[in-house]
Amino acid sequence: MKINLEKIINIVGKENISTDPGDLLVYGSDSSVHEASACIVVRPGKIEHVQKIVIYANSKKIPIISRGAGSGMSGQAVPIKGGIILDMKRMNHILEVNLADVYCRVEPGVVDDDLNHVLKSHSVFYPPAPASSRVATIGGEIANNASGVRSIKYGAVRDYVLGMKVVMANGDLVSFGCKNRVEAAGYQLDRLMVGSEGTLGIIVEATLRFIPIPKLRCMGTAKFNKLKEAGDSIAEIMASGCQPSLLELMDNIAITAVNKAMDFGLPDVDAILMFEADGMVKEAIDFEMKKIKAICEKHNGFGIELSYDAKERTRIFSGRKKLFPSLSKYKELFACTSLADDMAVPYSKMAVMAQKIHDVAKRNNVIMTAYGHCGSGCMHTKILLDPTKNKQWDNAKNAVKEIYDFVASIDGSTSAEHGIGISKAFAFKKEKHDSLNFMHAIKKALDPNNILNPGKLMDAPDDWVTATRLRYKHN
Ligand SMILES: Cc1cc2nc3c(=O)[nH]c(=O)nc-3n(C[C@H](O)[C@H](O)[C@H](O)COP(=O)(O)OP(=O)(O)OC[C@H]3O[C@@H](n4cnc5c(N)ncnc54)[C@H](O)[C@@H]3O)c2cc1C
Repeated sequence: MKINLEKIINIVGKENISTDPGDLLVYGSDSSVHEASACIVVRPGKIEHVQKIVIYANSKKIPIISRGAGSGMSGQAVPIKGGIILDMKRMNHILEVNLADVYCRVEPGVVDDDLNHVLKSHSVFYPPAPASSRVATIGGEIANNASGVRSIKYGAVRDYVLGMKVVMANGDLVSFGCKNRVEAAGYQLDRLMVGSEGTLGIIVEATLRFIPIPKLRCMGTAKFNKLKEAGDSIAEIMASGCQPSLLELMDNIAITAVNKAMDFGLPDVDAILMFEADGMVKEAIDFEMKKIKAICEKHNGFGIELSYDAKERTRIFSGRKKLFPSLSKYKELFACTSLADDMAVPYSKMAVMAQKIHDVAKRNNVIMTAYGHCGSGCMHTKILLDPTKNKQWDNAKNAVKEIYDFVASIDGSTSAEHGIGISKAFAFKKEKHDSLNFMHAIKKALDPNNILNPGKLMDAPDDWVTATRLRYKHN
């Protein structure tokens, strides 16, 4: 693929491009198992740069992959068709915090925690908070419809996007949505961009709403000797009308991983539930916590501890927060892979899903863990395997298929928060089989030359082993 470097340098300046092989290697992967090589990394500093680069790429049919922090776990930002990586992190300004009209305007490269740091000084926050909020950018979060630990009460990114500016595949700059809380004016095109994984347009500005920071939070933990009983508690809590602001599950593998990696001292039980209620009035929080505690006890939860203390809450939750990196230390030489890792599951099926993960792991001789933001309907797992052993990859492939077949059988959904990218495309295509034609029609209408992040979502290969950075070679 031939790219006119002079042309790109004229747009963004020499200091904002790179064809260095080291950079191309780094920008060739994200937090998934995938890798591929782009031809060039370009760092636009303003909307006009993005427009000019897109116009050039469209005229030559060169792929463009927008990239935030590269923390996506499914290969969304991996350039499997080569082309230009558009690193959006230079566009990282908070343009406006409008307290009177309750919105803020940001550039796409603003990091979630940085935005919340500024909002905090006004006693408000933008709640979706993925566990990666220290690095994840607003552009990446919107393109992935990210969510997080408090989405159980506050919702996902899509619930906070009021509007946005987008550079389309032909270079046009368009505005979708508005700055107001409600709008009933025609197609909700801002919604179309949410979760589009960079395949329909490049988000260059976002208008987000925010809400007041609750004055009080109370966090609790409950231990369980049976994983199923923790799962049943989740189902009953969510069906009972309780409004927790956090409800997280950790199974024994997750507990062991954190203890091994950090010497954390979590109790060696089958499962732990962490729960929280928040608000402005202590009596209301006490009421929620009492109800949740009673439900856990009904399902044999024990050793229940509750705390309003901020330091103690942080300590309790840090084990969960550090879980993902800890899993890499669970077994020497084993890698922690994000495969079939964030299924959306009906509450009533949470317990069987957790058990299924363990059964599938055992049958396929891989290590898998059941954990996650179960209160918002998201069951996480990771597959731990020795990446040097082809047989382990074959086992993982079987396990992934079994998991998704099961998820389909219980009316779950392929991805609750990490997106589709490459890894989950085969399951996504199966799940959305009756709407794929519409997706293709929309893609063709908005990006007729297929330059925007090609080969992702419904256009990704069925075989997720494609383009893996872990040197898998199929036997
Ligand atoms: C340790 C860890 C924990 C995580 N926890 C969570 C979690 O709790 N919840 C959750 O939802 N996710 C989580 N993730 C996944 C990931 O962090 C989120 O999906 C995040 O929103 C990705 O943001 P990013 O800036 O890294 O995007 P990238 O990975 O760089 O890109 C993701 C997608 O967005 C597109 N994109 C990026 N910027 C733009 C733009 N300006 N315009 C159009 N498209 C764009 C890219 O093309 C790509 O398709 C986690 C990841 C890690 C590594």
